[in-house]
This record gives sequence, structure tokens and C-alpha cells, in this order.
Amino acid sequence: MPVFRCSACPRLISLSIIPGGNPAAQDTDVWAENWRRCDACKNLFCERCAPPGEEHCSCGGTLREPDDETRMRMYFPVYESLEDLPPVLSRPPTKEARLGKLEELWEKGIYGKGEYETFKYIIEAS
Ligand SMILES: [Zn+2]
Ligand SMILES: [Zn+2]
Repeated sequence: MPVFRCSACPRLISLSIIPGGNPAAQDTDVWAENWRRCDACKNLFCERCAPPGEEHCSCGGTLREPDDETRMRMYFPVYESLEDLPPVLSRPPTKEARLGKLEELWEKGIYGKGEYETFKYIIEAS
């Protein structure tokens, strides 16, 4: 079960696609009860950091309830273009800077070999 983290606090976000959520994720101090994702920066926010009345992320993007397709894409990520890459890799302004960041994260062991090669291919084609 992939687990994500709120971008603004330490609460965990369970990506359960089963209605009713992950039965193991009952402690609401640890686990978000609800969450939304910014359509621009792709950051996730729990319902405490982004209360229901709040429509926009601090980056200016719109906060959206994840639909099944979004959840599936997070569950089984598909990387096809620069926009699909993690912001830390898509944000640097030049291809060289993006490749440099990728190498840095790769050396730290952040990515598996498959991810590294996919990301490298996409950045080189960008
Ligand atoms: Zn939060
Ligand atoms: Zn945002």
C-alpha cells in the first residue's frame, strides 16, 4: 500500500482505493482523514492543512479531490513527459540543471534503477 505524506505537516496519507479507506489508518493524528492534491505542483494536503473551504494551493493551483484515475496514476505512476516527473526534477530551469539534480538524487539512493533510467530518458528528450 503506497503511503504519501501531507506536504505541509507530518500526517500520512493512505492511498487506499478501497471505499472506507485503509483500516490500519485509524489514528487521525498520524493519518489524514481526507486529502486533496494541487493540480499544479502536485503536492498533497491533508484536510487540516487545506480545510474544505480552501480552494487554492499557495502556488496558485487548484486543490482537487483525487478521483479514481488520479489515485490509480499515483498507485501505478506513468511517466511520459516532464510534467509527470516529481517537481524536484521538473522545476529546474535547464536540462543540465535537471540532469544534475537527478544524478544527485540517484547517488543518494532516492530512486530505483528503473525510475532513474525513465527520468533520465524523459529529461534528455526535454
Ligand atoms: Zn497536513
Ligand atoms: Zn500547488
